[in-house]
Amino acid sequence: MNYKNYPMVSRVVYGRGCFNQLGDIIAPKRLNTKAPFIFLVDDVFKGNSWLTSRIPIAYKDQLIYISADEEPKTSQVDELVEQIILTHKDRPSGIIGIGGGTILDLAKAVSILLTNEGEAKNYQGWDLVKNPAIYHVGVPTISGTGAEVSRTTVLTGPDKKLGINSDYTPFDQVILDPELTKDVPKDQWFYTGMDCYIHCIESLNGTFLNAFSQSYGEKAYDLCLDIFLNDTLETKESQDKLMMASWHGGMSIAYSQVGVAHAMSYGLSYLLGTKHGIGNCIVFDHLEEFYPEGVKLFKEMKAKHQIQLPQGLCADLSDDEFDTMINVALSLEPLWENAVGKNWKQTITRDKLKALYKKM
Ligand code: NAD
Ligand code: ZN
Repeated sequence: MNYKNYPMVSRVVYGRGCFNQLGDIIAPKRLNTKAPFIFLVDDVFKGNSWLTSRIPIAYKDQLIYISADEEPKTSQVDELVEQIILTHKDRPSGIIGIGGGTILDLAKAVSILLTNEGEAKNYQGWDLVKNPAIYHVGVPTISGTGAEVSRTTVLTGPDKKLGINSDYTPFDQVILDPELTKDVPKDQWFYTGMDCYIHCIESLNGTFLNAFSQSYGEKAYDLCLDIFLNDTLETKESQDKLMMASWHGGMSIAYSQVGVAHAMSYGLSYLLGTKHGIGNCIVFDHLEEFYPEGVKLFKEMKAKHQIQLPQGLCADLSDDEFDTMINVALSLEPLWENAVGKNWKQTITRDKLKALYKKM
C-alpha cells in the first residue's frame, strides 16, 4: 500500500469580516512594485462596492471580472494567462480568486499555467505539473464545493472534463469570510450546498472510506443536516456553518473519493453543460438504489426549501448523445470503484446507466 502524502492549504484565516485583512495578508508576498497581484473576481460583484471597494488594489495590480455562467475551460485558462503575460512585463506576485468554485478553479489553474509551459489541457490528469505555481489565494463567496481546500482544479478541455490534480494546485492562502456568502440566491445556495452534502454521502458510503475521511465527512454531514433541515440561508449561523461544512467535505473526499452522482453528473455536464451543483442534484434525486438514506433526506431538504429541479433533461437525446454521457461517466473508474467496489463492472452496465439517465 502506498499512502498519499497530501498537500494542504498553507494558511487560512476565518471569521466574519476577515476579508478586510486581504491587503495586509498579501502585502509581504509582493515581489516588487511592477509585479502585480491579479484579482480574478466573479462578475456578479461588478458594481457591488460593498465587496469591490475592499479589494486592495495597488501599483500595477489588475482586476479581471469573470462570468461564472459557464464552468471553466482549458482554453479560457490559456487566454487569461496570455492576457496577463501580454499586459505585464513582470511575472505577477500572485493570483487572487474571489468567487465560487468556478472562479477558484480558474485562479488555481492560471497560477499553475503562469509557471508551466504549454496549454492547460496538457496538465489535465494526475501529477503532470512540473513547476510550483505562483502564489495563489482563494476567497470563496459561496459554500459547498470544497474547491477552496482541494488538490484539483476541474476544467473542461477539448476532449475531456478532468482536473489538474497536483501538489501545486492547493491554495497558499484561503480567506474564509462567511459574510461574503450573504447574497447568494436561494436556489444556488441549495445546489452548491448539496454538492457538499453529496460529497459526504459518497465519501461515507464508499469502499475507500477510512478514519481520516470519516472524521471530516461526518462533521460536514452533520453540519449539512443541521443547516438544510432546520435553517435557512439568511441566518449568520447557517452561513458560518456551511462554509465550514464545505471545508470538511473537501477534506473528506481528499482522502477517499466521490461516487455515482459525481460520475453521472460529469456526463450531463460534458454533453449539456449542466453546472456541477444542480447537475449533482438532478442525478442524486434518482439514486435511491445506491444511497437510500441519503436520497431520502435529500428529498426532505428539497421539499423544505421548495426547490424545483429541472425534469426531462434527457427526454429528447439521441442514442449517440446517451453514449457520450455514458462514456464520460464510465471513464471515471475510481469513482465507481469507490461507490460499488472492485467488481463494479459486473453491475454498472451501459444499459443501467442509460435507464438512469432516461429518468433525468
Ligand atoms: P459557481 O462558482 O459556478 O457560482 C454559481 C453562481 O453563484 C454563479 O452565478 C455566481 O455568480 C453566483 N455567486 C457566487 N457567489 C455569489 C455571491 N456571494 N452572491 C451572489 N451570487 C454569487 O458555483 P460553485 O457551485 O461554487 O462552483 C461550481 C464549480 O466548482 C464547477 O465548475 C465545478 O467543477 C467546480 N468544483 C470544483 C471542485 C474542486 O475541488 N476544485 C469541487 C467541486 C466543484
Ligand atoms: Zn462536487
